[in-house]
Amino acid sequence: MVLWVTAAGSGRAAELSHVWVDEFSEAERAMLVRWTEEAAAGVEALVGSFPMDVEVHYHRRDGAREPVPWANTRRGRVQGVHFHVDPGFPPSAFRRDWTAPHEFAHLVLPYVGRQHAWFAEGFASFMQYRVMTAMGVLSEEAAAARLRGRLARAARDYDYPDRPFTDAAARLRAQGRYPVMYWGGAAYFLQVDEALRSRGSDLIAVLRAYTACCRRSRARLEDLIAELDGLSGGSVFSAALTRFRSEPGFPAVPAAGEAAGRD
Ligand SMILES: [Zn+2]
Repeated sequence: MVLWVTAAGSGRAAELSHVWVDEFSEAERAMLVRWTEEAAAGVEALVGSFPMDVEVHYHRRDGAREPVPWANTRRGRVQGVHFHVDPGFPPSAFRRDWTAPHEFAHLVLPYVGRQHAWFAEGFASFMQYRVMTAMGVLSEEAAAARLRGRLARAARDYDYPDRPFTDAAARLRAQGRYPVMYWGGAAYFLQVDEALRSRGSDLIAVLRAYTACCRRSRARLEDLIAELDGLSGGSVFSAALTRFRSEPGFPAVPAAGEAAGRD
């Protein structure tokens, strides 16, 4: 694929710049830089180099119950990720945590606005275990099993059988029921991936082309969908969006896991 050659030819991985918001020792900084650079490289191994530099901000959260109790992306002129971390956890605990793969995956697509949070979160959730597989942290089987488990739980917890998912998503967010919104959104990307595979392509191939040619900081969801349809030479993305906006109940999950576990 021509676009892939362009991406490979450009050669260089995105530059991460590290911003220490709170105080960290030299050893802690070295450990945290290795952690975020490995996660960013895991995303780039799948979709190619980010066409922009990324600022990584580190906030200290001593005494937390997990290595990364909070994180979020900032999608301004500079694309950034803020990590709130407890550096008391060992490097292995950071590597096994899904947060950094999830946050860096967000940066593959432009910011499409708060009202489409289900789309952005669904995408990062769909990607996170694949990135962990690319990092060598999860086997393909383990990644597929986790994905299946999250989707099954979200489907069980979805209690808007009469509403299309995009309609329910805003309520789920308002109620703080994030896992249902995130994993319902992930089903969109499973559906798209499955449909692309039946045409001899897959979602990662389209993302690779998108990263190489078209990535921007912000986009209207409809414009992004049209762009992805264009790159894939069909209407898989817009057709899935139409289903998400019209079909009531939790989104169908095609062969959950099998599709996600491949490649
Ligand atoms: Zn997220």
